[in-house]
Amino acid sequence: MGAQCVEEACQRAVGVLAQNPLDLPFAGLYLLDAQRLTARLVAATRELSADQVPRQFLLNDDVSVPAVMRLLRTEQRQCIDDVAAAGLSIPAGAWPEPVRQAWLLPIKMAGQETVAGFALLGVSPRRQLDDAYLDFLDLITNQIGSAITDAQAYEAERTRAEALSQLDRAKTAFFSNISHEFRTPLTLIMSPLEQAMRAQANEIVPRLRDELAIAHRNSLRLQRLVSALLDFSRMEAGRIRTNFEPVDLAVVTGQLAGTFRTAIERAGLVLEISCPTLPAPVYLDCELWEQIVLNLVSNAFKYTLSGTIRVSVQSTGAHAQLSVTDTGSGIPPEALPHLFERFYRVPNAQARTFEGTGIGLALVYELVQLHGGKIEVHSEPGVGSTFTISIPFGSSHLPMEFVRSAPVEGRSVALADSSSKKR
Ligand code: ADP
Repeated sequence: MGAQCVEEACQRAVGVLAQNPLDLPFAGLYLLDAQRLTARLVAATRELSADQVPRQFLLNDDVSVPAVMRLLRTEQRQCIDDVAAAGLSIPAGAWPEPVRQAWLLPIKMAGQETVAGFALLGVSPRRQLDDAYLDFLDLITNQIGSAITDAQAYEAERTRAEALSQLDRAKTAFFSNISHEFRTPLTLIMSPLEQAMRAQANEIVPRLRDELAIAHRNSLRLQRLVSALLDFSRMEAGRIRTNFEPVDLAVVTGQLAGTFRTAIERAGLVLEISCPTLPAPVYLDCELWEQIVLNLVSNAFKYTLSGTIRVSVQSTGAHAQLSVTDTGSGIPPEALPHLFERFYRVPNAQARTFEGTGIGLALVYELVQLHGGKIEVHSEPGVGSTFTISIPFGSSHLPMEFVRSAPVEGRSVALADSSSKKR
C-alpha cells in the first residue's frame, strides 16, 4: 500500500537506502516549504546529533551550504567535495573513516516544474561514487519523487474529505440547534392561540375567530416543518435510538393509514387499505415505522389531486412488503435517482400544497435502512407512483442489543397522534 502522507513516503524511502550502509553511509531527505524559504530534513538513515547536518536550511543567498542554492537554481545534482569545509559532519556509516564527500540530488514531483526537495547522500570513504552508482541514486530520488507525489495527492484528498464531513457535521448541528430554538417560541405562540380559540362565542368576535384559526393552522404547519428538521438532524447525527420488537405489521400499518381517511375522502379521493394478516410478526421500531408510513401516505395525498391512494402489505416469502400507490402527478425519470437525497424536491411538481422541505423521503430512506430493509419507487408522470418497502422477517439482520423479543404491552398497535406529522 502507498504511503498516506509525505513524511511517511520519505521515511519508507530512507528505510530502503539504510539497507546499504557500506556503499551509502548516510542519506537525508529535505523538503522545501510551500514558500520555498526553507528546506527541512524529514527523514534520515540514522539518528543525528544536533551539529552533524542541519535540520533545516534557510534558502537565502547566505545559505550555509552553497551547493544547496546551486541545486535549486540548476535543478541538477551537486557534489560537495569537502563536507568538513561546508560545515557538515556526516555520519560515517559502517566505516571508521569519516565521510569526506557528499552529493545533493534533486527530488521532483510529477506535474511540478520546480524541485520539491533534495537528498543529501554521504559518499562511502572506501568507494568512489562512479557514474553507474550515481545513476542508480538518480533513479532512487525519482522514485522518491513519485512516492511523495502519490502521498501528497492522498493527503489532499483526505483533507478534502475531512473538510466536507466537518461541514456536514456543522450543518447537522446547525439544523438541530435552530429547530430546538424554534420550538420554544412556537409553543409559546400556540398555547395562547389555542386558549383564545377555546373562548366562548360571546367572548370573541367571529372575524377574530377566523383569524385565530388561520394563525393556528399555520403555526401547526411550522411545527411540522420544524419537527421534520429536528427528526432529520437527529438521524444524521446518529442520535436516533432504535428499539425493535415483533409487531403485527398489517394491523399497525392499517391503523396508521386509516388516520388519513377523513382528509383523503374530504378531498374527493379514494383510500384503499389492504392489510391482510402476514404469516409472521415483523421486527419494527413502532415510532420509526409510524414516521415511514405517515411520510409516504402524506406524500401520496400531497401529490395526488384525483383518483386513489392504496396502502397494502403483503409477504414475499422472506420479506414483508409495504406498498403505497397513488394516481398522482408521478415523478419524471430524471428525478428518480435524486429522490432520496436530502433537501431534494422535484422542480415544479404538481401538488396540493407547496409546503415541503425535501426531507421526508431522505428520512424514510434512512429509517428503512435502520430496519435492515430497502425502499424502491416506480413512477410514471401523469399516471402515478408506487413506493415499496421490504423488511426481512425475523431479527437476525438487526443489531442484537436493540432487539426486544416480546412487544411492550399494548405497544404493537399503540399509535401516536398522526396530526403531529407532516400531513
Ligand atoms: P417534500 O417535503 O418536498 O414532500 P420529500 O422528501 O417527501 O419532500 O419528497 C421529495 C420530492 O419527491 C417531493 O418534493 C416530490 O416532488 C417528490 N415526491 C415524493 N412523493 C411523491 C409522490 N407520491 N408523487 C409524486 N411526487 C412525489
